Amino acid sequence: MLKIGLTGGIGSGKSVVAKIFELLQVPVYYADEATKKLYHTDKELMVAMKQHFGTDIYVNERLNRALLAEKVFSDPDQLTLLNNLVHPLTIRDAKNWMARQKAAYIIKEAALLFESGSVADLDYVIGVSAPQALRMKRVMDRDGATREQVLDRMNKQIDSDLKIKLCDFEIRNNEQELVLPQVLKLHEHLIMLSTKG
Ligand code: ATP
Repeated sequence: MLKIGLTGGIGSGKSVVAKIFELLQVPVYYADEATKKLYHTDKELMVAMKQHFGTDIYVNERLNRALLAEKVFSDPDQLTLLNNLVHPLTIRDAKNWMARQKAAYIIKEAALLFESGSVADLDYVIGVSAPQALRMKRVMDRDGATREQVLDRMNKQIDSDLKIKLCDFEIRNNEQELVLPQVLKLHEHLIMLSTKG
């Protein structure tokens, strides 16, 4: 079974593309959603979070996201610490999930595949690309965020053009080219690659 990463800049359309693969019966692991769950299910992580960020980081066992964001986005060292706590657990969780799947290939959708080092466990990576102005507009519309807020988030990831260069395949989600035929073609190619395994 091939392990395929799916990544791209903020607002590139990773989730939209992942949903199309799901319609083709490809199992998809959503790293962001899985991580959000780990904050409340992984006892080790909960203990470590309280040790490092203070007991008030959880209120009635629910993560105080606003407080965490305040702490990590004002201090790069705290952000590194958080990533060091969370990334290995997410990678382990994804591996456990992968071991349970039966398919020609599976997809791991994650914004920070390269940044987190989880790319090392994958056979190939698909990058979803879109022009920065379009990505900006999509995220502002989706999240009701300001330009500055989106730029701030974009600046916390590696450059999206560089990200796409690091990928093995590209899906262009620029609202000029059709996405579905690109996904179908890649799906067939990945099935073919999986048989060579
Ligand atoms: P993030 O990194 O912020 O999680 P993402 O890469 O997963 O973003 P999506 O959430 O899939 O991006 O897409 C961002 C927004 O743009 C969503 O509201 C989505 O519906 C919209 N969108 C994505 N692709 C298209 C498209 N081809 N046509 C119209 N809207 C689109």
